[in-house]
Formats: sequence, C-alpha cells, structure tokens
Amino acid sequence: MAQETADAVVIGGGVMGCSIAYQLAKRGFGRIILCERDGIASGSTGGSSALIRMHYSNKSTIQMAWRSLLAFEEFEEYSEGGQAGFMQTGYLVLADASLRDGVKKNVELAQSLGVETRWIEREDISRYAPWAQLGDVVGAAYEPRSGYADPHGVTSGFGEGAKKSGARIRQNCPVIGVNFDNRGQARVETSRDVIETPVVVNASGAWVNKVAALSGHRFPAEAIREQDTVFDAVGRDGERVEIVVYDGPTRLYFRPEGRDLLLIGRDNIEPEYVDPDNFNKKEDMEFVLDVLERMQRRWPDFENAKLFRGWGCLYCITPDWMPILDFHPEIPGYFICTGMSGHGFKLAPAVGEMMAELIMTGSCEEPDISDYRLTRFDEGDLMQSVFGTGFQG
Ligand SMILES: Cc1cc2nc3c(=O)[nH]c(=O)nc-3n(C[C@H](O)[C@H](O)[C@H](O)COP(=O)(O)OP(=O)(O)OC[C@H]3O[C@@H](n4cnc5c(N)ncnc54)[C@H](O)[C@@H]3O)c2cc1C
Repeated sequence: MAQETADAVVIGGGVMGCSIAYQLAKRGFGRIILCERDGIASGSTGGSSALIRMHYSNKSTIQMAWRSLLAFEEFEEYSEGGQAGFMQTGYLVLADASLRDGVKKNVELAQSLGVETRWIEREDISRYAPWAQLGDVVGAAYEPRSGYADPHGVTSGFGEGAKKSGARIRQNCPVIGVNFDNRGQARVETSRDVIETPVVVNASGAWVNKVAALSGHRFPAEAIREQDTVFDAVGRDGERVEIVVYDGPTRLYFRPEGRDLLLIGRDNIEPEYVDPDNFNKKEDMEFVLDVLERMQRRWPDFENAKLFRGWGCLYCITPDWMPILDFHPEIPGYFICTGMSGHGFKLAPAVGEMMAELIMTGSCEEPDISDYRLTRFDEGDLMQSVFGTGFQG
C-alpha cells in the first residue's frame, strides 16, 4: 500500500473538519490532509438549518458565536474567496413567563460581552413578526445581526481556502484504520494509502465512535436523528415570515427559505438514537402534523401551508448537548472535535480557530476551550442552559 506523511490528518469533511483544516493550513502548520469518506458537507452539515444566533447561556459559547458571526459577515475575505450566503434577517427568541428570566439573563450576559442583542417587550414584537399571534409570549430577545447561511457554501469555502494554503482535501476517501504507537505517532489507513502523522483530528461528527473504535477508543457522544421540514407558507394577505425565530413556548425554530417557503424544525423532545449508517432520512408524518399544529398556534394562517419537503439527518450529542473540543488524555496527538448537536454550523469559524490554537500551542484561553474538555462528564461538571437540552441556548 502507498505510504504518505503529514503533519496533521483531519478525519471528516463537514463544516468542522474543513474549518479546522483551513485554520491549520493558513497558520502554516505544515502538510495537512483532510479525508472525507463521501463528499464535503455530506453529513449533518448538508442537512443543517444553518441558523446563526448568539443566544447562549455560557460565556465561552456566546464568545464563540459572536466571533463566528463576524466571520460570516465577511466570509469572502475571512475564507479567501468563499461564499456564505449569509442572510442577516435578525433573530427572535420568543419567551413565555417561564422563560422570561432565563432569556433576559442570557441577553444581559451577551451584552456584557459586547454582543448586539436586547430584550424587547411583547408589544414591540409585532414590528418584527406582524403575523404572530402572541398568546402567552411575554417578550423576546432580539438580535439584529443574526440570521442564516448556506452550509454547503461555508464548508466548501473553508475547504477551498485550506487548499489555497496547501492542504489536501480528499473526497471519497474513508479512513478505515487508525493506530497509535507508544510514542503517540499515528498510522492512518485510508482506502488509498497509509499516512504517518503525529496529529489526528477526529472531526467525524455523528460517526465519532465508529472512527474512535478503529483505534480502540470510545467518547461520550451518540448519534440521534433530527428532522426538518419546509412548507410553502404565505399568509392570507400575502404575509411572509422574514425573520428567524426560536419560539420557546411552541419549541419550534423557523426561518425563511427563499421567498415563499418556510423552514421549520422542532426541539429534539425525545432523542431517537440511531446508527449513523442506517437511519430514516425522510420526515415522519407524525412530526409534520405536530409541526403544523404547533405553528398554527403562533401563526393561524399557517393552516393553509403545504409541505414542500422534509428530511431526517443526524445530531451528535454529548450528555450536556455541548461539544467536546479536546485531545485524548493519554494520546496528546489525538484531537477530538465532536458533539456539536444543534450548534455546529454557527460555531464553526470559532471552533476551527480554537482547535488550531489547541493543536499548535496546547491550549486556547479566549474563548476558553477547557469548558469543552472531555473529562467534564466524569467530573460531573456539565455545561448548563436556561432551556435544558432541547434548544441548547
Ligand atoms: C436538521 C438539522 C438542523 C440543524 N440546524 C442547525 C442550525 O440551525 N444551526 C447550527 O449551528 N447547527 C445546526 N445543526 C447542527 C450542525 O449542522 C452540526 O452540528 C454540524 O454540521 C456538525 O458538523 P460536523 O463537521 O461535526 O459533522 P458532519 O457534517 O456530520 O461531518 C462529519 C463528516 O465525517 C465524515 N466521516 C464519517 N466517517 C468517516 C471516515 N471513516 N472517514 C472519513 N470521513 C468520515 C462524514 O461523511 C461527514 O461528512 C443542525 C443539524 C441538523 C441535522
């Protein structure tokens, strides 16, 4: 079998692997090879709703989302030519009385970190969502600079940017073996060759434990199925939803898709654990009907909406639904970037930067990467959210 050497091998060509490869290559880390078993963005990234917001409960996650927003706003320059298709529609987090204090707390924390966000009272919401029947909504967080983007554009932007700095991006190139010797040096076997490298980055998303198993490891992360739907949805008077919304009381998130379509997902209320190589990639009718019922509560005209398409895709979750960004405690050259659940798209630019810093210097203090350490689960020091695990705010 052919032999290769590299300074780092990144496993997985989703938005995470491509962002990490880009940052390593740009910083001159050396010979970078990214292996993607299928095509770029063929995993969770390609099925993402790609919402971008800063509303989180933790300092470091807010900092990561904010840093990433600045990258999305200037993505062409940031990625040396990529197109993010960033639609800066604004973002509302609707809160009922039970969520008000938590949402306000998140807004205050974000403001203290320099994020443009504010709490708006119920009567001001109609300025942004004139179609909404507010029912039990008491107010909202409003982020004027948030929105959504194109996950394929962003991921291939990172991949192309990485290539410009000399990285090799291999598609249709599964990693089929990983062995570390007692000095931590790795032999990565692919469908084409064997690569000797001191640094392996496992960025294989929901496949993290299939890749980990190649070297006899296992990480606290699971694959679950997440569904999204797109409806043809124009109100009786031609009204359209033109902003991104997370609706706390109905537990739906939605955003425009083109002019007349509305993309809608729902909090993952009961996780459906799946084999990432064998799960239902279509939407369930039960899910569609539930979305219809919940959405009509907020927008009565939605009763006339027609399902345009839907799909099932993968989240990779950890016990606190927050990422693992770390190296293996016994193999300092084995890096793990996984467990992105519903955050991975919006955080990808910052995660690429932080992982590159971790790989090159051994740490990253701002945002503090140690919040995402592997050992937090054994220590019982899980990350917390005012929303619990579903929306992961
Ligand atoms: C329906 C849905 C909606 C979402 N909405 C949002 C949202 O609004 N905002 C947000 O921020 N995030 C959202 N997310 C989450 C976000 O999309 C993910 O967190 C992110 O895309 C994960 O990226 P990743 O690179 O870690 O994983 P992936 O994109 O899954 O990439 C992993 C890659 O590894 C490859 N791979 C696996 N095994 C091997 C192997 N042996 N060798 C080589 N390659 C391998 C896979 O083919 C895959 O391409 C959503 C996700 C879903 C499913």
